[in-house]
Formats: sequence, C-alpha cells, structure tokens
Amino acid sequence: MDIKWLIFLFTGAAFSRAANDLYSMPAPVMQPVQQISIYLTFDDGPMMGSGFLDSLTATDSIPVDVFLIGAQVSRDEKAKKIFGQYQKNPFVEIANHSYSHASGHYRMFYSHPEKVVGDILLNRTFLAPENNLVRLPGRNTWRIANRKRTDLTDADPSADSLVKLGFQLVGWDMEWRFDSTLQQYFSAEKMIAYVRNSAWNNVFEKGHVVILCHDWMLPDPYFREQLILFVKTVRAKGIAGFLHLNKYPGIKSCVDPPLVTDNRL
Ligand SMILES: [Zn+2]
Repeated sequence: MDIKWLIFLFTGAAFSRAANDLYSMPAPVMQPVQQISIYLTFDDGPMMGSGFLDSLTATDSIPVDVFLIGAQVSRDEKAKKIFGQYQKNPFVEIANHSYSHASGHYRMFYSHPEKVVGDILLNRTFLAPENNLVRLPGRNTWRIANRKRTDLTDADPSADSLVKLGFQLVGWDMEWRFDSTLQQYFSAEKMIAYVRNSAWNNVFEKGHVVILCHDWMLPDPYFREQLILFVKTVRAKGIAGFLHLNKYPGIKSCVDPPLVTDNRL
C-alpha cells in the first residue's frame, strides 16, 4: 500500500477515536454563580428612629431582623406602638435580644448563666416572637445546628443552656460602624466592598453575611441615606439577595424542635 494511504488511515482512525472519546465525555456542567445572601439586623430597639425602619422595610420590601429588648418595648407608648407596627409588618422579623440587655453590666450578667436564661425566657414571653432566634447582649455568640462560635467565652455556659432549651443563637459577621476619622457612619460603598471581600472568607457560613446595625443609628440622616443606597445598589447590581434569618442555613423553624420550657431555670 502507498505510504500516503497508510498515513491517512492511521491519522484518520486516530482522529475518529479522539472524536468518539470527545462525544462520549459528559458535557461540562455550567455551575450557577453562587449568590451572596445578606441579613440586615438591627439591635437594641425599639427606640427613636425605629419608625423609619418600619416604613422603609414596608415601602421597599426589605427583609430585616430586629433584635428587641423587652424593657425598651415597655418603656413608653411610642415604643409599644412601634412594636405593634413591627408585628404587623411582614418584612420585619422580631427576635429576642433579652429583656434587660444585662443592664449594661455584661461580665456580671454572664457570670450567672441561670439569670441570663431567665432574662431570655422573660423576653420570649413578653415579645412572643414566631421563632427561637436569640442574640446575646454584648456578645457575638453563635449556636446554629451544632456549630458554635463566640468572641468572649464568658457567654458560653449561658449559650449552651439556651441551646438545650431549643434556642438558636445568631451573632454577626460585620458591623455597620461609625468612622471616627470621617465623623460619619460607613458609606454604602464601603459596606458593599466589605460584603464582597468577606462573603466567602470571614463569615460564619460562606456566602451568608449577617450585618449588625443598631436602632440608635436610625435618626442620623446620612446613615438613612446610605442604608437606602446600599439596598438599592446591592439589588441593582445583583451583588446579593436580602433574607430574614429564618432562611439562614441550619436555622430551624420555631415549631421544629418545640421550645422546651424548663421550670428549674
Ligand atoms: Zn444590644
């Protein structure tokens, strides 16, 4: 046989085999781009300015979690009215931030875990929230689905006791803070940069960013403006979605498991 034919047959067979291999390979699976989830949380309310949060969430359909202090709710009629508005607002998820907020004396508070548990139970009775979510006052403590983290370990005994009763503890991944150099709260742009830089690294659950704000920030016009800008920009650019904490990975609904009431505590 002519040498050219031999070369043709050899390369043709090789090409055919390669082509068959190619077709027999599974098609590459296109992974969907994982989206970041943001959980906006406001602590220590209700107080002056909380009415803005109620109207903002309802107007722009922004889900937020408010970690309320019972003593604040019972302080005056204005606070009770805001609490009533929150209860009717489907974009506001009410959660437990203790009744007394440790009266500002955190070390002493956490040295008596039974009192911490009693304070959380009192606030639960008072607020009657539709979940078992708790944020401990003054401590960044997490207890979700057998995973735990805390910043100051003096809260651990209290946190573990609360878990036994069926509570789920949520801390925060980043705080919307006041920039003392610029003498203003962080800008929307800065917060978006933080979210982008931290969402897959410095968070309790990858891709899920819990942001801590406080109700005392709400009367500040610059913070209000930047908060609105933050939400609008995140949505317009498709940077992340906003969710309630009851959608956070590992969080169980209130009825699953039922809260255990321990009269010994
Ligand atoms: Zn607080």
